[in-house]
Amino acid sequence: MKEGAGQMSADQKTRVYHVVKFSDGSAYLFFNGCTWNCVYCVARSVSRWCLSLSQEKKSALSYGQTLTLNALLEMLVSNGVHTAFLGGEEPTYDPAIFAILKGLVAAGIKPWLITNGELINDRLISLLHGMTFSIKAITPSLHLALTGKDNAIVLANFKKYANPQTTVAETVLFPGLVDCNEIYMVAKFVEYVNPQLRLRVDLAVQAKQYADYLRTCVSKVKQAHKNTYYFEPVAKAEEPVVLFPKPVAGSWLNNVK
Ligand code: SF4
Repeated sequence: MKEGAGQMSADQKTRVYHVVKFSDGSAYLFFNGCTWNCVYCVARSVSRWCLSLSQEKKSALSYGQTLTLNALLEMLVSNGVHTAFLGGEEPTYDPAIFAILKGLVAAGIKPWLITNGELINDRLISLLHGMTFSIKAITPSLHLALTGKDNAIVLANFKKYANPQTTVAETVLFPGLVDCNEIYMVAKFVEYVNPQLRLRVDLAVQAKQYADYLRTCVSKVKQAHKNTYYFEPVAKAEEPVVLFPKPVAGSWLNNVK
């Protein structure tokens, strides 16, 4: 049965390979696969695992397994998850994405999508509680160089689907690669689409030494779009509980009382 018919088996494979749960009751679902090839892709060039995990916990996880739809939903429900963030690589690349979203909604779990925005559509948007829409660059040649993809569809989708109640725009500052002038252009575009939209500027994980530059940049960018913000780097982020995959035998899990 094709997914488009809306009748998927509970044993349907998903591309979810990692799930963590935070103390506030939210969970983060990591999907594998994306048709883009961003030069700074965290999942591919830094870590496939949640960055808030200790090195010890990350090294006990084995990459390669994915969850079925049924197993994913049961895991989230039995752990009392109320909000699911869908990210990692690109969740919309998963052929099971509609079944996952429908299953989450039916289970009373709010889905929040983190996306490059290329493959979203009316049906998908109708199932979301919210989304973080990443705009990598406005300048077409830079977007192509960064991602291997043209940004025309992405910008058109942002204009069509960005809604201040349900959407956070996000962009990545990477000094030497994506400088503040480009971030300023992203902010102008977001302002043009809707001044009420929030825009978060993230510093690339690989460029954490530029925290001062981030602060200076956001001050400048606010002149183009007042609703721009960033998160201050924290010394130590909360470490979540790993729900999937189970750590390999003999690792830290066996020491949990
Ligand atoms: S769009 Fe996201 S997941 Fe895909 S390559 Fe770029 S950073 Fe990685």
